Amino acid sequence: MKKLNICNDQFNYHKIQLSEYWRDTLIEVVYVSTKIFDLLNEYYVNDSHATHDPHIEHGAFLLGDYSRTESGQYDITIDHLILVEAEEQSITNIQFGSAAWLKLDNALEDNPGSKIVGWFHTHPGHGIFLSRDDLNVSYTYFNKPYQIALLLDNQISLKNNQLELGIFSFKENGEINNY
Ligand SMILES: [Zn+2]
Repeated sequence: MKKLNICNDQFNYHKIQLSEYWRDTLIEVVYVSTKIFDLLNEYYVNDSHATHDPHIEHGAFLLGDYSRTESGQYDITIDHLILVEAEEQSITNIQFGSAAWLKLDNALEDNPGSKIVGWFHTHPGHGIFLSRDDLNVSYTYFNKPYQIALLLDNQISLKNNQLELGIFSFKENGEINNY
């Protein structure tokens, strides 16, 4: 997808007009909490965390909320990024295991009213697109019309000194946008 244009004109949220990137998208606007961008910048651009291995994929659940637009699409907010130890992490694959799903349950309990609006994972240098395994994760676990896949290439982010992100939403026909 083309480079995300992230405006900071909404209080506490970065606004991403998804319909600028995908011709056919069930989600019109994604509002990402500035806290999440701060966290991602700290983690993946400033690289101040010595504890994470930048060469394997990282995963997270995205919690927030959604609303219907007048045209029948969705706007979503992403308020919480629940980073997890994914069970099978490798350079090009990620799977959420039982410990991850338990952490999600706890996060939902801690944030009453929050909904699962998608998932996040990193690609260590291989670019912004959904692999066959990624598509399986989306179609199996995050297949509601208001759910997205948020992707970050951490190696390219580090190299370019800015977040390199993609947001993948569903189309009208239930397929997920890709590339
Ligand atoms: Zn992937």
